[in-house]
Amino acid sequence: MEDLKKLVADIYEDVVRIRRHIHQHPELEFHEFETSAFICDTLEKLGIPYEKNIAKTGVVGFIDSGAEKTLLIRADMDALPVTEEADVPFKSQNEGVMHACGHDAHVAMLLGCGAVLSKMKDRLSCNVKLLFQPAEEDAGGALPMIEAGVMENPRVDAAIGAHVSNSVPAGSVLVKNGEFMASPDDFDLVIHGRGGHGALPHNCIDPIAIAVQILAAWNILSARYTTPLEKHVISTNMFQAGTTYNVIPDDAVIRGTVRTFDNTLRHKLAEEMERIAKQITEAFGATCDFTFTFRYPPLINDTTMTDAFRESVTKILGADRLVEGKDPSMGGEDFAYFAERVPATFVHVGTGNAKEGITMPWHSSNFKIDETGMQAGIMAMCQFALDFGK
Ligand SMILES: [Zn+2]
Ligand SMILES: [Zn+2]
Repeated sequence: MEDLKKLVADIYEDVVRIRRHIHQHPELEFHEFETSAFICDTLEKLGIPYEKNIAKTGVVGFIDSGAEKTLLIRADMDALPVTEEADVPFKSQNEGVMHACGHDAHVAMLLGCGAVLSKMKDRLSCNVKLLFQPAEEDAGGALPMIEAGVMENPRVDAAIGAHVSNSVPAGSVLVKNGEFMASPDDFDLVIHGRGGHGALPHNCIDPIAIAVQILAAWNILSARYTTPLEKHVISTNMFQAGTTYNVIPDDAVIRGTVRTFDNTLRHKLAEEMERIAKQITEAFGATCDFTFTFRYPPLINDTTMTDAFRESVTKILGADRLVEGKDPSMGGEDFAYFAERVPATFVHVGTGNAKEGITMPWHSSNFKIDETGMQAGIMAMCQFALDFGK
């Protein structure tokens, strides 16, 4: 245990350097070319064999301990289309692009884990796949990497992933059994009416009036046709129709997001929303096109894996550094694709520091982290890897 702490402390400065380098050179999803090349270069220096260009920019490093089981540790590496306003000396040099979600820290921590675990190979009871994936923020890089075969050769038995969080103090790690993040699905509804003069509605089919009825009915679906115990939200966030005061438009467009923690409920809401939209438009003589886009699945943490992670955190950092997650988040996370396939747990590595004013939320143009939290994150993940497979 002392060895692990020392090894992590020894590489900490490198980890900070790596994080700041990546922070200065952020790249948007599926364009993480420099980041990917930098990762390959670092793995090379560490003597860790790797495969690159998986799902465009993805990289998988492999620490072969000769063990039977294989643990996958995942980091995402994409940045956001945000202009950095944070006052840091290593500010983004890529105008309009920023690591405002902390994926720079995820890459740095995983390279740190690689540096430490490759030195502790003889103490590992599992092989370790270090997986760097593109495009977590929107398009999703996890699924194309899985489709490219990263779960095989050798077969992955379990997976862990971590996200930095300023809601958790630096030095602590948050774990949570079960529901962790929601399925962030999208919907599009276009109502085709018949436009005309605003003073003569009886000669038209008003798509706005119909859209309002559909929104009201979806609220009833949400409140009265699901049990009060099923966490979910239907959020209509775009409503576009019309051009001026006295013209009834032809069409109305509604777009939004649906979030749940349950695949059955997800499909039920998709079907019912469509049925309601179709029947209401039909009732008023209009037609519609409804599209429900299933995006990332809900992220559900495996209990055995989460309990084991809890133990590893307690062992290396102490029980006072373990934070129990209370409510799941309605946000999405494509680590869910790994968690659907193998026992997995996703944790939050604390990077918050209220005294230093580091409390800004993800995606803020002022996003900053307390970098010291990365040390605890690396320790927790390495300890878990050392405990896994025993
Ligand atoms: Zn994000
Ligand atoms: Zn993120």
